[in-house]
Order: sequence, then structure tokens, then C-alpha cells
Amino acid sequence: MIRRRRLDARDLLVTVLTPEGKYRAVARGADRLGGTTARLGLFGHVRVQLYRKPSQGTSTVVQVGVEASLARLAAPAIYPYAHLLAELADETTGEEEPTPREYELVAGGLRGLCVHSDPEAVTLAVTVKLLTAAGLALQVGACVTCGARSPLTHFDGSAGGLTCSNCARGIPLPAAAVETLRDLQRLTIRSALARPLAERGAVWAALRAHLEHHVGRLASLSAIA
Ligand SMILES: [Zn+2]
Repeated sequence: MIRRRRLDARDLLVTVLTPEGKYRAVARGADRLGGTTARLGLFGHVRVQLYRKPSQGTSTVVQVGVEASLARLAAPAIYPYAHLLAELADETTGEEEPTPREYELVAGGLRGLCVHSDPEAVTLAVTVKLLTAAGLALQVGACVTCGARSPLTHFDGSAGGLTCSNCARGIPLPAAAVETLRDLQRLTIRSALARPLAERGAVWAALRAHLEHHVGRLASLSAIA
């Protein structure tokens, strides 16, 4: 469940991300349906049955089962990270198109936020992999302006990658932030989480520039960086 909005006193509009795609649906009379409102918790792992009349555009939630409520995601220290992963997945996936990789990343990322000691690191790693799945991988191998391999010292959000000290386009980055961006892009999530992932403020600034140019302004990002 990546988005949940109350339409009125009785109805909810929910967005669920599934391996088969993203679906929006209305839960009608949600409070009366035997606790459906509570079961449709934001960021929860749910099993839903949707119904759509051929003549209608919006599906209706018929049944809800809870696989995992992931209640820890509501904690103030964790919520902003869960919100970012959910919002990014919502912005980078189309409706009802198969999104198995995005589903795996978001479901794994939300579970990881509940158990990992470093939720910020989990969010950084999953954010970069979600961008990659959307065709928006960070260009970290060589300067995106001139092709020089080193030293890379800046991040150009519009070009989506690192630039060299001669071109110096974009945000200046400490060397450790360049290393972190490379680790996040090149390593698996598990391997990236074993690295220091230093200079996170600068790394978030680079990601923010990349996101603003290629995805749009994310409301959730202002609570993090
Ligand atoms: Zn260059």
C-alpha cells in the first residue's frame, strides 16, 4: 500500500503496488467493512481483491487481508523514509503495467526499514535501485560532460551524473560522497549496506538534484534532506 487518501467520512482512495502493476482503488464504506480501514494501513503489506465494472474507470476494494502491517514504519524516525520510497515508486511506475522489480524493491525496502539499524542507509540504497529500475541510473563511471575518468568532483543533476574537476558542473562533492554514490549505484543493496556510505548530506543533495530534474519534486524529500 503506497498511498492512502480519505475521500470522505466513509471512503478511502488507495494505491497498491503489486508485481503485476500499480492499481488505484476506492474502499467504500471502509469503516463499516469489518475494519477494512484499519487493515488498509499505509505502507502495509496487504492482499487485496479489486473489482472493476467494465464501464467504470476506478476499481473497488472487495476484500483485504493483512500479510504484514509493518507498524514500525509509522515511527517518526522511520516514516519519512517509508514515505520517500512509496512516493518515488508511485512517481516512477505507470498504472497497471507489470513492475516486478519495483515491487520487490519497495516491499524489501519497507521490510528493511522495520528491521535494519540504519534506515537512512536502506533508503539511500533502495532509492538508487528504484531510479535504476526506472531507467534513471546515476552515471558514476566517468564525467558526464567530457568523459574523463577522474577525478570526479561534482554532480550534475540535469545530466544525471558525476562531472570532473575541469568541467565542474553541478554540485561540488567531497571525495567520500563520490565514493558513496558509486557504491550505491554499482553494488547490490546488501553490499552497499556493508559500506560506510559517508557524507550523506552531500549524497542527498546530489539525489535531490537528480530527482528534481528527472522525476519531479517529491513532497517526502523535504522531511529528509
Ligand atoms: Zn569533465
